[in-house]
Amino acid sequence: MNPCCYVKEADVSALRRALLRWYRRHGRSLPWRETRDPYRVWVSEIMLQQTTVATVLGYYERFLERFPTISDLARGDEQEVLHLWQGLGYYRRARHLHRAAQFLARTNGGKFPTHLAEIEKLPGFGKYTARAVACFALHQSVPIIEANTRRLWCRVAGAEGDPTRGRLEAELWEMSAALAPKKGAWDFQQAAMDLGAMICTPRSPSCSICPLADHCEAHRLGKEEDLPQLPAKRSKVDIEHASVVLWNKRGEVLIRQRPPDGTWAGLWEFPLAELAENETPRDGIQRTVGQQVFASLRWTGRSHLVRHAIMHYRVKLTCLEATVGRQSVELPSSEWRTVDRLRSLPWSTPQRKLLIWLEKVGPPAQRTDRPPRP
Ligand code: SF4
Repeated sequence: MNPCCYVKEADVSALRRALLRWYRRHGRSLPWRETRDPYRVWVSEIMLQQTTVATVLGYYERFLERFPTISDLARGDEQEVLHLWQGLGYYRRARHLHRAAQFLARTNGGKFPTHLAEIEKLPGFGKYTARAVACFALHQSVPIIEANTRRLWCRVAGAEGDPTRGRLEAELWEMSAALAPKKGAWDFQQAAMDLGAMICTPRSPSCSICPLADHCEAHRLGKEEDLPQLPAKRSKVDIEHASVVLWNKRGEVLIRQRPPDGTWAGLWEFPLAELAENETPRDGIQRTVGQQVFASLRWTGRSHLVRHAIMHYRVKLTCLEATVGRQSVELPSSEWRTVDRLRSLPWSTPQRKLLIWLEKVGPPAQRTDRPPRP
């Protein structure tokens, strides 16, 4: 059945009552639900994109302790914002949050807008995020569709087809708008999200204890596991990176800041090469530091391997270590620092693992010409 037909035929009042009764007993208690400050709700929504509630909890508290208001965040340094975001991934979210705060500080006295059309124009706000803040903080009656409610309403309506695009996606938004009561829509939407997350789970939904079982087409037809019909996930692609830890005679290591755009933008790393097919880590490092510098390196024989997943990539990162002699090393956006001054910088997760390794093993005891064996 399509979602709009479902709403016409359903006993919407009974569905609302059943959902809200369940929510009052079983709904999740979360810190961003205890506030109506749009800024705090906004921070939580941005952090929750692609990230689990359990992971976000600690980050949320730390971030708001350092930046309790939009104006505080606007005044903050981007490197500090990224440092607080370190480990959450998808750093573009943090930069957008920071830019939007600066925009609001400049144009609106640090106040969050109240009209949906203005909210949607802010950097980093998509259709869902704008409505989530409008609904949960400003208590506006707006529809909410994200992963949990998409799955829930697809099953309740017994809707077939790809719910992430086209007509079915639009109908799910209409369904969410039609089901939400005019008063108390925020409770209803949070209840639907919780039911999707806790009961109507992607695999093995708990239909036997679901308050919407009597209203659910998929359950009636025994099709719970067949819906929603999401597009196939992209399979993971294996890629290889190589980094080099270079020590100078003063006991400092060379680090480099990534460009302001692209993956891990603005974060720090040990000089890194994205390896072409059949390229060895040493070849990649030679390409990165240049032939002359490479020829002067003395390998310590130590190496470290990090495996990491990012988006649809599986990354194998090989790190080699060397000392440099008199040859000067100048790479764009790079600097020499002692290891104890590296923690204060923002690093991507795989590079941070290299840093942790380096802190553990300390400086190389002796310098050799032995080739590294990763
Ligand atoms: S009855 Fe089952 S499939 Fe239907 S909404 Fe409840 S948990 Fe989901």
